[in-house]
Amino acid sequence: MPLIKQLVDEASEIRHSTDFIHGQLKNASDEISRLKSQLAKVQCNAMFDSLTTLYNRGAFDADLTMFCEAKQPLSLILLDIDHFKKFNDEMGHLFGDTILKGISQRLKQACRGGITAYRFGGEEFALIVPNKSLRVARQMADALRLAIEKMTIKDRKNGQKVGNITASFGVAEFITGDSYASLVDRADKQLYDAKRSGRNRVMPF
Ligand code: GH3
Ligand code: MG
Ligand code: MG
Repeated sequence: MPLIKQLVDEASEIRHSTDFIHGQLKNASDEISRLKSQLAKVQCNAMFDSLTTLYNRGAFDADLTMFCEAKQPLSLILLDIDHFKKFNDEMGHLFGDTILKGISQRLKQACRGGITAYRFGGEEFALIVPNKSLRVARQMADALRLAIEKMTIKDRKNGQKVGNITASFGVAEFITGDSYASLVDRADKQLYDAKRSGRNRVMPF
């Protein structure tokens, strides 16, 4: 009898510790699921710009590098808001933010057929336009230029509407041998030319 009692006690102990281990495993597995979904959220947030909700510079760098390495035909549009500092100085930084959000919304509307819009930095944006020639990308850029020119943005504080927002554009097409740096550099030089020759224009002309 004592032997049987000892066996029963041991069996019950084993069952308890098995239940305990099961409980621990379940907790660990729940924690892993929670961390996995948290990580996915963080990874997703890391690709977006929090002010404009466009893809951010990190996403731009990764995407353009990948396209260049894959020798994917594409055109790159860079745009920079003209005299943006003036809006900040005259209307306040928060209103400047509202302008950035308004322009970003307009750029998002252009994102069809594989086109992606990014906040390149500050008041500068980029569009990667896959499978389109320089000529077509220039036309797209000019349509955006006109749309931005027509935009009016309302200041919620005083109800005042602000127009005359313009942007300058530089466009470049991927050519054989291009790297991320050479392509961005070419588009950037065109953007600089657009600024130098009077702003509110697309280069190459
Ligand atoms: P240009 O026509 O030569 O491009 O002139 P600009 O005034 O647009 O260019 P500049 O580089 O002198 O000024 C850019 C300004 O953009 C300065 C900076 O404070 C502002 N800026 C950058 N990021 C933000 C932002 O997130 N919010 C706001 N409100 N302003 C920003
Ligand atoms: Mg700038
Ligand atoms: Mg600017």
